Amino acid sequence: MPANTKWILKNGSIIDGVNDEVLENAYIKVENGKISEVQQGEPRETEGFEIIDCTGKHILPGLIDCHVHLVWNGSADPQSVIKNEENDRIALEAYKHALDTLKLGVTTVRDLGAPDRTVLHVRNVIDSGLLEGPTIIASGAPICMTGGHVYYLGYESDGPDEVRKNTRRVLKEGADLVKVMATGGIYTKGEEPGSVQLTIEELSAAKEEALKKNKKVSAHADGIEGIMNCLEVGIDTIEHGIYADRQALEIMKNQGTFLVPTMAVMRQLISSPDIPAFALEKAKQVVGPHFSMLQEAVQIGVKIATGTDCGSPLTPPRYYYDELAIMHEAGMSEMEVIKASTAVAAECLGIEDQRGSISPGKFADLLIVDSNPLNDLNRLRGDKLVMKNGVLVS
Ligand SMILES: [Zn+2]
Repeated sequence: MPANTKWILKNGSIIDGVNDEVLENAYIKVENGKISEVQQGEPRETEGFEIIDCTGKHILPGLIDCHVHLVWNGSADPQSVIKNEENDRIALEAYKHALDTLKLGVTTVRDLGAPDRTVLHVRNVIDSGLLEGPTIIASGAPICMTGGHVYYLGYESDGPDEVRKNTRRVLKEGADLVKVMATGGIYTKGEEPGSVQLTIEELSAAKEEALKKNKKVSAHADGIEGIMNCLEVGIDTIEHGIYADRQALEIMKNQGTFLVPTMAVMRQLISSPDIPAFALEKAKQVVGPHFSMLQEAVQIGVKIATGTDCGSPLTPPRYYYDELAIMHEAGMSEMEVIKASTAVAAECLGIEDQRGSISPGKFADLLIVDSNPLNDLNRLRGDKLVMKNGVLVS
């Protein structure tokens, strides 16, 4: 079908990403890659439209993953993948992972760390229409302290001036947002998830520069001290948030800070024999507190946006659906999980006026699924049609 095909998806049950009510027996018109009409009943003026009968099917917005690393392939040795390859090849592999992700029904990803301009190039070729792929919102290289968390992906920066310089640099390179490493993590040897990395002064410099370009800042933040530093300087999204306590979660709720939990990767790490001992030890320590934190965040009502860390060790893109199951297990209803993966995720990325929900004017990023995901989120794993910008994904 040509890219400018006009579609009517009719007789479907629409979960629009925003409202709690399902719109039964409804149709969606798609023209020029965007949704032009959403109504209940039978469509009029159908001439020139291709019709998809969605009787018995549910239609929902294309899913969003707020935390991926497209340059990684799920290898247990993510450092070698980067250090042993040229950027040219890394970018091509990142494109392959992006396409795999789209085919799963994830139509938008936020990439939170890739060497140099690799993923920014991939984003650009997809945006230009040259290659099919998901919408990519990308941070480019993360800003970290020298030798800090996944330093081999990032721009190592020490002191507020260097952080300021490198924040300006990634924004000049075309980053959609800035990623900072506020604490240690699991998969870099010799550091602890609880320890502070970039200081509050350094985080503040990054935030200040991002604000000048109207961009958001996302922080890898596992330990409580680093999380509190992030909240004090107004970081927009907390990634992982493992040791966030009640006080931190309440501040997040009050400030409207997003939590992107990335639980699936932790469960993968503790369940594989291929993980190096140093990472396994750390993962075992954090997996319990991480889940308890997520339960508390749900109770308090923190804004939670779905993110997986896919690409990380043993977590290729299909683990997206494991993340949804864990969020449900932590106390979110099926509808809340779908919202966290669509409209709320779009808000987390700052693209809520374009994507993440089904209403006129939004890009036609849609999933048509065979059974009702509100009965069981695992049904999203099954057969489905994926539409991206009004084009069916093959
Ligand atoms: Zn990550």
